[in-house]
Amino acid sequence: MPKKIPLRQCVGCREHKEKTQLVRVVRSPEGEIALDPRGKAPGRGAYLCPDPQCLKRAVKSRALERALSAPVPDEVMETLAAQLEEVSGGG
Ligand SMILES: [Zn+2]
Repeated sequence: MPKKIPLRQCVGCREHKEKTQLVRVVRSPEGEIALDPRGKAPGRGAYLCPDPQCLKRAVKSRALERALSAPVPDEVMETLAAQLEEVSGGG
């Protein structure tokens, strides 16, 4: 039996990818929105490719705020974009 890899949908490009290839965005119980690179933070989560373009699309289409059930202010988006670049560029 091949190992079953959980798939998650990127809220930006809507492609299904392996969970390990996506980055989780989480809204904590306190209402704080941040990247969750380890995928273990409590709260409501959404998945994104480690690609700033996907973040932009997710915010523009409101898919991210729908997924988190919370508005995503510009400054939060900028923080997420910076964190995404760290995650994607930190090889
Ligand atoms: Zn994507």
